[in-house]
Amino acid sequence: MSMPGAGAGVEPAGEAGRDDLVDRLAAARAGVEEAEARAGRPRGSVRILLATKTVPASRIVTALDAGADLIGENRVQEVLAKYDELAGRRHESHFIGHLQRNKVSSLVGKIDCLQTLDSAGLAERLHRRLEAVDGTLDVMVQVNVSGEATKSGVAPDDAADLVRTVAGLPRLRLRGYMTIGLNSPDRAAVRSGYARLRTLRDELAGHGVPGAADATELSMGMSGDFADAIAEGATIVRLGSAVFGQRSTPQGV
Ligand SMILES: *Cc1c(COP(=O)(O)O)cnc(C)c1O
Repeated sequence: MSMPGAGAGVEPAGEAGRDDLVDRLAAARAGVEEAEARAGRPRGSVRILLATKTVPASRIVTALDAGADLIGENRVQEVLAKYDELAGRRHESHFIGHLQRNKVSSLVGKIDCLQTLDSAGLAERLHRRLEAVDGTLDVMVQVNVSGEATKSGVAPDDAADLVRTVAGLPRLRLRGYMTIGLNSPDRAAVRSGYARLRTLRDELAGHGVPGAADATELSMGMSGDFADAIAEGATIVRLGSAVFGQRSTPQGV
């Protein structure tokens, strides 16, 4: 049986665009529900985040009109470029790319959650900016479960320290953990990385690390492997190509 979006070939979105996109979104939802059921998890326990890099704001609006409510960008420039067109639409906006410290000021106030917190220095920089604008921000600690040198994120062994740092910064609220899966066709190897993130979350909470008890979210899994991520406990899956079609210029992962 083939699962919509999971491993199946992804065709480029046609010029017709709109219906295509709505159909793909519905198929992705069905795929997520099927994976929830298969994993014995309650329906609705996993949210779909639409990874919208390179996607024009008009297409994002189409997805929001069709019921999507959570989007994620990789680049500050794209957040800013699409901000006005999306501002009147009800949705939650996460940042899922690597954030350079010199971009913190332009991003704070424009997103609801930073999923890619990967250093104490970045946490402190964010906190200073939030104090200046009297704001707060949800964050997730990005963990590099695969250990690939090209990936951002703290090593699993360093996650506890970063969680403690965040707990000491009252304008940051830790929601959970995010990871980008191993870049490999070996499904079992990718899946074991997702299991590692879940175990890490549970250990930090179990050991009473400050702030860890409320950090329940696991953002993991993409178009090709979301069903495995859901089987390992993902609460947010990040889907790009399954909904918007193949990107002409792969970037950002
Ligand atoms: C692009 C992107 C995704 C979505 O990837 P697809 O394979 O297109 O679903 C997920 N997470 C991050 C961080 C991304 O940059």
